[in-house]
Parts: sequence; C-alpha cells; structure tokens
Amino acid sequence: MFVVDTSDTYYLDKIYEDINKLCEKYNNILSSKIIGKSVEGRNIVALKLSCMEYGSANGDSALRMTRSKTKPSVLFTGGIHAREDFSVMLCMKMIDHYCHHYCESTELEGFDVRSIIEGVDLFFVPVANPDGLNIVHHGIETSSNYEQLKTMQIWGEDHTYWKANANGVDLNKNFDDGNWEIRTCVPGTEIPCSDRFKGFSPNSEPETMALVNFCNHNSFTLMVSYHCSGNCTFWADSGTHSLFGGMDEKIMDELNKRYIYRKTKISQDPKIYGCGFENWFRARMKRPAFCIELSPFVEGGRQHSDTLFDELVWKHARTTGLFFAEKAIEIDAAIRSDAGKFAAMTK
Ligand SMILES: [Zn+2]
Repeated sequence: MFVVDTSDTYYLDKIYEDINKLCEKYNNILSSKIIGKSVEGRNIVALKLSCMEYGSANGDSALRMTRSKTKPSVLFTGGIHAREDFSVMLCMKMIDHYCHHYCESTELEGFDVRSIIEGVDLFFVPVANPDGLNIVHHGIETSSNYEQLKTMQIWGEDHTYWKANANGVDLNKNFDDGNWEIRTCVPGTEIPCSDRFKGFSPNSEPETMALVNFCNHNSFTLMVSYHCSGNCTFWADSGTHSLFGGMDEKIMDELNKRYIYRKTKISQDPKIYGCGFENWFRARMKRPAFCIELSPFVEGGRQHSDTLFDELVWKHARTTGLFFAEKAIEIDAAIRSDAGKFAAMTK
C-alpha cells in the first residue's frame, strides 16, 4: 500500500527510486523537478503535491513546479545536515502518506488531507544535501571528491558524523541572510571539515543556491526545515521576528500545544544563528520559517539508530506537514485581510 519503507537505513538510491515510483503512482497530484546539482553532480529534487491545475505529471513538469498564483504554498526541507537522515525519512514518508489519504479521501489524525491539499500547494526537498547523505551511509571513499575530503578533519567518531556537503561546508551556515560578516565558525572549524564550517563566501555552495533559486522563484508562504535532534523548534530570530506581526509566535504556540516540539527562546545573536536556511528565508522571503529538531537530544552529534525512526519521529511528527500547510492558508488569509498589520511582510 505504501512505497516508502522506513524500517531501516534509507539509502540514496532507494530514495531516488521511490521519488520516481511515487510520481508515477500519484501522477494526478505529485510531480518532481531537479532544482540543482550537488558538488558531486547528484540531482537535488523537489516534489510538488498539488491537486490542481496543470493535468498530468508527464511532459510539462517544469511548468507544474511553479506554485499556483492563487494558492498559498509551503516548502518542507530535509537532510540539509547530512547525518540527520531522520529528516529525509520524514519528508519522504509524509509525501507517501499524504498522497494516499488524499486519494482515499480519509483523515489523518483529525486532519482532512483532501481539503488541505485543495487549499495549499505542498513542496518538498527531501534531500537537500545528497552528497553528505552518501558520505554518512558509505564513507568518504565513495565520494568523487575523495582526494579533498580525506584531508579534512572529521568532527565526531567517523564518517557517520558527517554534517557538511562534499566541499566540507555546513550548508545551514552558508546562506546570504545579511549576517555573513559577523557569523562565526566554531573554533577549529575555520577551514573545510565535516561540520560547522560556514564556507569561504555566502551562497558559495551549489546546494545552497538550489534552495535560494527555488524559493526566489516560488515565493512560498511558509518554510519548514527539519533537523535532528532535541525535540524542539527554532521559530524566530531577533533580526526578523518583528516582521511577522506575532504570526510566527501564534503558530509556534499552537504547535507547542499539539506536538512534543518544545518552544525555544527567540535566537538573539546573529553571530550564532546567522546564515541558516530558515534565517535566510525569514530575512529575504519575509515569511515565517521553522526549524524543527526531531527526535530526543543526543550529545555530540551522534544519531539514533535508523531503525528507531517510526518510534522516535514518525509517531510524533507525521501530521506536522499538514499542520504547517493549514498555517500557510491562515498566513495567506491574514495578509489579505489585514494588509496594514502585515505591511512589513509585503514591502
Ligand atoms: Zn541540523
């Protein structure tokens, strides 16, 4: 009945295969597009789950990947940090299950999946850092950038701790959100390595640019970036919080009531929060963005066993995509009905 199997490690080959299978199986509502190439030339793929207006998934998929002008939209991103593969599994499994419930016209834990998908376009980039995921699963020896990678320091016990892309850049510190000059690297990571190096210049990485271009092209209403670990949410930063007229906090409080993801304090120091994807999205797209840290906290970047995904993540997070889709509808309606209050978001 379902395509995506998350009972154990979910390898890149299987993910690409499942993306094709899902787009075939649900070709009336699901389409995919390559939005960029990684350092090693792997495809960075986006999926669009939408119930209108362009017909079949075949042929005009590029056109179909543009968001509908008349509907709000939400972007979900997984795997920007290589080792956090629960975030990839969640995106893929949400796509599979939401398509299923849409076609069956059945609810999922109280969410009316069909009516949500009728009201909002859902976009997913399940694997934002495919080279990194390959390193985590198969080691740096399988990388076409091996000669450079073998000179880099691995922070953590081995390649399963790899967090960066195949240039040794932490993609979630590489975005040009206006804080580049003050954004610091952690001491010891000022050169390419497995973790925490921000890069030599903002937006330097092809994976960063794939997301930047995709967002600029589509103007999503809301963005959610899934990470691990901590079961918490980074939902606002001091540089942009005032833009949203309290809408970000309202969403956060509702999320807090319904899910296990703890509300953190507003990030205050751009030296520390700057140049993340969610920070870039808030600053440049002027829309709320949420970083969700899935799974219980683990010290030192170690990850839980992949076999624990269903218990530690899926059980708790399976409807978060639908929750945020509904919030995108609310944001869109609020901006339309009270343009004055949300003027900062449309300037
Ligand atoms: Zn992360």
